[in-house]
Formats: sequence, structure tokens, C-alpha cells
Amino acid sequence: MSLLPAGRDRLAEEAAYLAKSHRRVKRRPHAADIMKGESFFDAERRESRDVWGEFYKTEWQTPEGLITGAELMSALRDHLAELQEEQCCYCRQPLLKGGFARPIEHVLSRSEHPRFTLHFWNLAVSCERCNRLKGKTQSETFARSLSSYPGHVDFISQYHPRLHAFDAHIKYAAIIQNGVNIPLYAGRTVHGRNLCSQFLHAAALEMTLLSPKSKLYGDVTTIQNFIVSHDEAAIDRVQAVQIALIEAMVNAATG
Ligand SMILES: [Zn+2]
Repeated sequence: MSLLPAGRDRLAEEAAYLAKSHRRVKRRPHAADIMKGESFFDAERRESRDVWGEFYKTEWQTPEGLITGAELMSALRDHLAELQEEQCCYCRQPLLKGGFARPIEHVLSRSEHPRFTLHFWNLAVSCERCNRLKGKTQSETFARSLSSYPGHVDFISQYHPRLHAFDAHIKYAAIIQNGVNIPLYAGRTVHGRNLCSQFLHAAALEMTLLSPKSKLYGDVTTIQNFIVSHDEAAIDRVQAVQIALIEAMVNAATG
């Protein structure tokens, strides 16, 4: 099974990350050993358990001083963000600084595929919005017992930001109308269309409506305040309206 599309080298990409696995140069060889020891590139030895929170809190004593899981994740985030040219892996908007603004995203969700919670190829950096909106959507269906990470050809319906090329799957354009930046996304493939309908269109609408220059900004804020004080069913209904709206906008702009 080939993990990466032709022309890309899995070991070279892993080595490029390991060379920057800690902010302090002297600790990098030790950080690299820790990540290899943690089966970061190979889930076969891993239990099917979500170790994310645990890893953050773990500390390792090395000849160059203490290394913490939080430091390792911070270096990983920097590396992934650099690979993505400081853009969100899904919506391509510029990433803001700070861990909260650029969460590490699990492509296969932690709940459905806990074995890949801490797996190099399952991680990307998204914006807070995409991370939140993607939250409840379902990952590609693989057996929970799957132990080696699937290759790009195995993802037959889900867009994978580390294994697939964004431009091949999604057409992205932005128009500026009355000072409001309106991002537009259209799927070119099954993967791209799924990504759009699952959350990218909703993200685009949210960006448009929540732009402070939007005429609707005040209205949307009122609606959102209303939603938080009401039930989940109301949220689902409002979200359905949001998605229908953005789909109409995208169709009008690209059709
Ligand atoms: Zn995003």
C-alpha cells in the first residue's frame, strides 16, 4: 500500500519533521528518539486508545534536560503550519498565532480511530473555526482494528489534507463585496464536494457573516446569542439554513 502520492517520499517527510522536533537544537535528537519510541510513525504497536491528553502531560528526562509532551506538540504544530504555508489545512485562510487559534487537527477523529490519535500522518493544523465545525462530522469508515495508517488511495470519500492536494479537490476563490471578504469553495471531486457540504460551506458563511464589516454582523450576533441560550435542535435548524444559504451563494458565483 502506498501511503503518499507518486513523487513524494514518506521517509524524507518524516525526517524533515524529526530534524525540527524540538525548539532547542540540542534536544532535537532526544525528541526524535522519544517520538520514534512513542510509535509516532507506526501505529501497529499502539493500543487502540486516545492518548492525546496524556501525551501533553508526559515528561522525559534526557541528558540535555527535561522534555515535555507539550513542547513536542508545539514543535510539531510549528512544523505542520510551515508545511501548510501558515494556512488552515481546510479553508486556506491564514492561521493566527497561538495554540488555541491553530489547533492540531485529527484527520481521522480521535473517537473513531483512537489508534491514530498520535500518528504523524493523521495530524494537520486547522483554524479554530474548521476544527470546531468539523468536530461532529464523520471520518472515512475504516475498521477500528486497522493498525497501519491508510494510504491516500484508501480515502475514497474524505479529503485528507496531508495526503491529497487541496487544489486537485477544491476550487477556492474569494471576492470582495462592499469591503466584506467572501470566500467561495466548490468541490472538484467527491472528496472536495464532501468537504464542502460537511463544513466548508458553513465555514465560508460564518466568515462572511461574522466579518465586522458585514451588514449582517449585528443580526448574526443576535441570532448566535439566541442560539446559545436555546436547545441543540435550534442550533441544527439554524445551521441547516446557514448551509443552504452558502450553497446558494456558491452556486450563484460558480455556476
Ligand atoms: Zn479553516
